[in-house]
Amino acid sequence: MRIGMLGGTFDPVHLGHLRSAVEVREALELDRLHMIPAPQPPLRDTPQVSPEQRFELLRLGIGDTPSVMADDRELRREGPSYSVDTLAELRQAYGDSARLVMIIGFDAFLRLAKWYKVNQIFSLAHLVVIARPGYNECWPEALRELVGDREVDSVDELMRSPNGNVLTLALPSMMAISATYIRERLEKGESVRYLLPEAVEEAILRHGLYHSGE
Ligand code: ATP
Repeated sequence: MRIGMLGGTFDPVHLGHLRSAVEVREALELDRLHMIPAPQPPLRDTPQVSPEQRFELLRLGIGDTPSVMADDRELRREGPSYSVDTLAELRQAYGDSARLVMIIGFDAFLRLAKWYKVNQIFSLAHLVVIARPGYNECWPEALRELVGDREVDSVDELMRSPNGNVLTLALPSMMAISATYIRERLEKGESVRYLLPEAVEEAILRHGLYHSGE
């Protein structure tokens, strides 16, 4: 089994997340991709929309996309949400020989050295880093040291073992969409059409989310 985990704040989910999910699933030939919202991301400010509402938007956004699922396991856990704990749960669920892959965008990768128990992550999963428009920096020294000789050049090489390798991937449709941009537009009452799925836009407008009021 090849299993992917794409965590995030999803505040709200947008087409940059969803198109990346579809393309990374294809590129890695994943059997299943778990998209997992964090209730209280350790390295960010508290989002204004509740974890349950963000999960519901994610569920609506994924719709019937094959093999991609909205996973609320971090919402059911007490305390801060650490990826290492989520990966340990997934490892437990899928067994020792499953290929488990944590997928993150390049902006998130740049902060990886600060993550909780980051070295333990490599004993649970592979890491795939997705290129993101606007983030072209070189790897900081701390990341070079952290990744060391884990880096591989192809999906085949990545999947030779259950965990421990790092691959950077440029997906075909790179989208310069961020949740920050969407929140800013919604706050000003501006259109977000075609930045996120229609069902997500419709729910946001219906519930008046991300709108600071008149
Ligand atoms: P914000 O603007 O609020 O920081 P975001 O749009 O970066 O949010 P997150 O929920 O923080 O969204 O992202 C979850 C994961 O998806 C991260 O690993 C991030 O790098 C990745 N990601 C977000 N947007 C894109 C995109 N347009 N293309 C590729 N990856 C993305």
